[in-house]
Amino acid sequence: MGKIAINIATGTIQTKDVIVGIDLGTTNSLVAIVRSDTRQPIALREIDGFSLVPSIVHFDAFGNTVVGNPARELLISQPERTIYSAKRLMGKSYKDVYDHKGFFAYKVYDDGTDALVKVQIGDRFYSPIELSSFILKELKTRAEHVLKMNVSKAVITVPAYFNDAQRQATRDAGRLAGLDVLRIVNEPTAAALAYGLGDKSRGEQTIAVYDLGGGTFDMSVLRLSDGIFEVISTNGDTYLGGDDMDNAIAAYWAGLTGMASAENISLRQELRVTAEKAKKHLSTHNEFNGVVNGVQVSLSREKFNELIQPIVDKTMLCCRAALKDAGMQTTEIDAVVMVGGSTRVPLVKDSVSRFFGKEVFDQLNPDEVVALGAAVQADILAGNNTDMLLLDVTPLSLGLETMGGLMDVLIPRNSKIPNKAGRQYTTQKDGQSGMRISVFQGERDLVKDNRKLAEFNLTGIPGMPAGLPKVEVTFLVDADGILKVSATELRSGVAQSIEVKPQYGLTDEEVEKMLMDSLTHAKDDIKIRALVEATTEARQMLDTTAKFLHKHREMLEDDEVATTTAFMNKLEKAIEMQDKDKIQQATESLNDVSRPFAERVMDAALKDAMRGKKIV
Ligand code: ADP
Ligand code: MG
Repeated sequence: MGKIAINIATGTIQTKDVIVGIDLGTTNSLVAIVRSDTRQPIALREIDGFSLVPSIVHFDAFGNTVVGNPARELLISQPERTIYSAKRLMGKSYKDVYDHKGFFAYKVYDDGTDALVKVQIGDRFYSPIELSSFILKELKTRAEHVLKMNVSKAVITVPAYFNDAQRQATRDAGRLAGLDVLRIVNEPTAAALAYGLGDKSRGEQTIAVYDLGGGTFDMSVLRLSDGIFEVISTNGDTYLGGDDMDNAIAAYWAGLTGMASAENISLRQELRVTAEKAKKHLSTHNEFNGVVNGVQVSLSREKFNELIQPIVDKTMLCCRAALKDAGMQTTEIDAVVMVGGSTRVPLVKDSVSRFFGKEVFDQLNPDEVVALGAAVQADILAGNNTDMLLLDVTPLSLGLETMGGLMDVLIPRNSKIPNKAGRQYTTQKDGQSGMRISVFQGERDLVKDNRKLAEFNLTGIPGMPAGLPKVEVTFLVDADGILKVSATELRSGVAQSIEVKPQYGLTDEEVEKMLMDSLTHAKDDIKIRALVEATTEARQMLDTTAKFLHKHREMLEDDEVATTTAFMNKLEKAIEMQDKDKIQQATESLNDVSRPFAERVMDAALKDAMRGKKIV
């Protein structure tokens, strides 16, 4: 039975499956599509005209849910059943959120393990993936309602600093909501795309994205060349945003009117709601007048600016830090994109514009721009837009542990994804039947300073002398940044692989710290790497020599054995002293003294062989 789908929102015939773009925000979420007639991205609106769905889920006593504005109204009166900011918990363990546990008015459950965190409501437990899926389901339903067609494919955005675990969690939430998540895209990248900055014809550009939302501030510097977005640096504050402005106003009024001590829940609610109303009003007017609990309250733009100055100042410090990390001056930034509802505040806009010394991109709705960009990306994936190409990059290097605990990078940081890399390894011991493959993420030379993602054993390698097996390890990062690692012993075909879904995530501060550490420790790391390499080589030399002495004792003179042993001891001492130069010298000396006997033994063996004897 053939059906013609007519897109009610755009009044056009839908020929292809629609792929929607979704901004799954900490405070607000929304869906957007690219209109098939005008080719412009638009946010989908309900009849009420609103596109934003507050990212809040309320659970009643029976486990039924409501999402969005109706849930928001229950925030203060039923805090233990009304879940906000679930995004902050994505891909995290209890340990990860422990420091901010006071932020959550609902119960974040601690099971005492490193496992992913859950939220407890009554006697039920919900994972952040499930919580996010309720929001995504609501968005899917809304989109279907507006478009009058089935919606099953989506592009979802995440913060640039989200790691593999958090991206995977977002993708899982989509799947749980009945959405096939075709791509996970970085929020700043989406914002830049919405402004058409991804156009290949623009050449190389550096873009700053300033994103001040409800409870988070993200600053990103992107480099765009040949249609590829590269995140050069990120900075921000995961607990700073428009909510802090509301709180500043509420505290100011409470102080003035003596409502400060009020424990009354509905009064607190009213204060906060009116404070947010005042803030929004002051984005376009100079004066606000209202009533809270029968008391007149007012606020001028001037006073408001004074109240929020510390918040704005904090964001400017982050901008500075992001530029410093990127090694850039403000003059090197080609475009500044404003994202997040809080950038509607004139003081914010002016401060950012002044800091970068240029006009900012603010023509699109700042709270919709990320979703619009996701829709643009969806349109590219649908094959409707060939002027743009979009690739993301890996935020941190991916590699393996090799001898001496060294990090062997297979896919360097900032590599375009999807990406594939492979390298061959071999065994260290004769007859070794297994090989441990440990996968790490990070920029340091020693794996112990990086983050372990996964580990597995390649077993069943047939007995062979050390160095003979050829174990090929392949890293495959798919378009969503999910890593698949496989290892194959090429001579025997023994193979094993895993998909990396880390146990719990890194906070953005940790990613930041890992990058900073790699810079601060770069010199030390090079020294340590040289030492580890020298030590590994020395140990191999000692091992071979010891074996040799044991096997061919009868062919050597006593003083030769004594000399060799002395040189071996000297090398052991050098290793103990951890002096790279001494180790290398001692290794060479040992090699020099042992070479003549080695050659003699070889000659003898050859002669024996020619006499028809077996080499032992
Ligand atoms: P998030 O990305 O965190 O989900 P949004 O980008 O939707 O959040 O931003 C939400 C914040 O924007 C809220 O604090 C809200 O009060 C604020 N906001 C929305 N509109 C305005 C406005 N006109 N003036 C000032 N702040 C606004
Ligand atoms: Mg946002």
